[in-house]
Amino acid sequence: MIKLEKLIFEYSQPGRKGYTLPKLDVPEVKPADSIPNEYLRQDNTLPELSEVDVMRHFIHLSILNHHVDKGFYPLGSCTMKYNPKVNEDASRFDGLANLHPLQPIETVQGALQLIYELGQYLIEIAGLDAISLQPAAGAQGELTGIMMVRKYFERKGEKRTKVLIPDSSHGTNPASVTLSGYESVEIKSNSQGLIDLTALDQATDETVACLMLTNPNTLGLFEKEVLKIAELMHNKGALLYLDGANLNSYLGFHRPGAVGFDLVHFNLHKTFSTPHGGGGPGAGPIGVKKILEPFLPVPVVKKDKNNYYFDYNRPDTIGKIQAFYGNFNVFIKAYTYIRMQGAQGLKEVSQCAVINANYIKKKLEKYYDLPYQETCLHECVLSSTSLKQYGVRTLDVAKRLLDFGVHAPTIYFPLIVPEALMIEPTETESKDSLDEFINLMIRIAQEAKDNPQILKNAPNNTPVRRLDEARASRELDVAYKPQTE
Ligand SMILES: *Cc1c(COP(=O)(O)O)cnc(C)c1O
Repeated sequence: MIKLEKLIFEYSQPGRKGYTLPKLDVPEVKPADSIPNEYLRQDNTLPELSEVDVMRHFIHLSILNHHVDKGFYPLGSCTMKYNPKVNEDASRFDGLANLHPLQPIETVQGALQLIYELGQYLIEIAGLDAISLQPAAGAQGELTGIMMVRKYFERKGEKRTKVLIPDSSHGTNPASVTLSGYESVEIKSNSQGLIDLTALDQATDETVACLMLTNPNTLGLFEKEVLKIAELMHNKGALLYLDGANLNSYLGFHRPGAVGFDLVHFNLHKTFSTPHGGGGPGAGPIGVKKILEPFLPVPVVKKDKNNYYFDYNRPDTIGKIQAFYGNFNVFIKAYTYIRMQGAQGLKEVSQCAVINANYIKKKLEKYYDLPYQETCLHECVLSSTSLKQYGVRTLDVAKRLLDFGVHAPTIYFPLIVPEALMIEPTETESKDSLDEFINLMIRIAQEAKDNPQILKNAPNNTPVRRLDEARASRELDVAYKPQTE
């Protein structure tokens, strides 16, 4: 059993110090004798500890949470791949890390070049014409994109009120649509887990501004009829948006711009290995076709011969959506990743991501339910419906995995699969770690029959046991209470 970590103040011992100094050979001056009273802290509340006390406290805290440097993290849709440490090294170069966003433009040419070139790589990867790297997350990229769609129809003098969204889509899609003042209309999936073309056709008319599609969709399945879908939308004057969160599955194999997508958001913190989780910064660039370029947020980074500059002179822009130019530090890491991989390396990333997901799917389909038989791309969706007869639910399976130091897959999403387990291993896992996970999942399926109680009680050996999540969100109480043994 891992012990919960105490507050650093509770380790404090009067007089304990993190240093030893030689004996004084000059008269001692007390702080009160040399520092004016108003600057002295009267309440002596700093903890008194040795260096090793401090080190152990923070190291212990750092390992209580699960993270990708500690173990397998197959959280579907989130692409929790290992983040190469060379990205961190590059982002800490003095000349990049110590820039100030208000420096004169001629002193930050290298930074602008990096932003510009990263934008060009993303445009090339997705087959688009122009881009803004400003949005700080995929969700903000969506909002920015839909605001541009809105402005596009405003400029055309067309009044459109709806945005179509498949029922398998991520929750941020309808949220972005609603925030931009559109009505979101849900489109049903068919029995193969793909968008139902008849339903789409019926829903599409001159009041529809666009369809927001995720491809491969959140079931990990490729929307094979994407050309037909694009034609259907464009015939009605509507646009086609790609939620590019699943880009990790086809880098270098498929270019969304080439099959009719008009705008695409990227998640640099997923596909391009800048760390995420824990609320850290991300980046959700939005790339567009020519027809949407005038509406990009200001400023746009431009190149004129060998000079880079911020272009603010854009009369049709939707305006500003981020402070300065977004999360520059994240761009450095994504840029480093792309340069380290090269074109061939990026292709291999996707190949391995897809092979890994299909390996897990194939190995587990005898033990869990498989709602859709199709070969998947970078993630597979299973279900634990057949464990229900033993009183076991997907939540119990997920909690049991924590006992073995593995992060749980995404559960109960996509919403159209009951008892869903959405598993995205990513390309950075070896066959050994996949096998270890597969064996654990098989063991858990067996435990459901033999000893369901161990699953109902799980997690059994984590610092915090199963939480009452509903109560935790209704009665928020973050006060620290020392544990009584
Ligand atoms: C992660 C994700 C998003 C949202 O991206 P954030 O960067 O988390 O805001 C949108 N759609 C899908 C399919 C996702 O997986």
